[in-house]
Amino acid sequence: MAVIIGDTCINCAACIDECPVEAIVDEDDNPTGEEYYYVYPDKCVECVDHFDTPACAEACPTEGCITWDMPFTADHKDHFAGGNYIDGEDYVLADADAIMPTRDDISLEDRAARVNVVED
Ligand code: SF4
Ligand code: SF4
Repeated sequence: MAVIIGDTCINCAACIDECPVEAIVDEDDNPTGEEYYYVYPDKCVECVDHFDTPACAEACPTEGCITWDMPFTADHKDHFAGGNYIDGEDYVLADADAIMPTRDDISLEDRAARVNVVED
């Protein structure tokens, strides 16, 4: 993974039941304490082997709310650790060898820039 939900989320719930791996939680269960929905990066599979595109973003009515994030792999461990992960402070990559499915056609540059998953 992953995709990430930003602070423009309006808590509409359109995404949560679309996720094939139950990676999304609502504002009450957001581990960061923010009052909007959250994607667990260690659960999100970018919908690989499920759909052609991320189902959550396709369902989301808020433009730019769901963006790409870095792949959840050991190569990007530092990105998800501690304060470096701005939307998940103290998040720790529990399994340093974790290799979550990721879409190779999305560049690391676009991921770092948090480009919208659904383009205009
Ligand atoms: S991209 Fe797919 S697997 Fe990841 S949170 Fe969205 S719906 Fe779930
Ligand atoms: S569909 Fe978009 S706006 Fe609605 S809860 Fe999910 S991320 Fe937030």
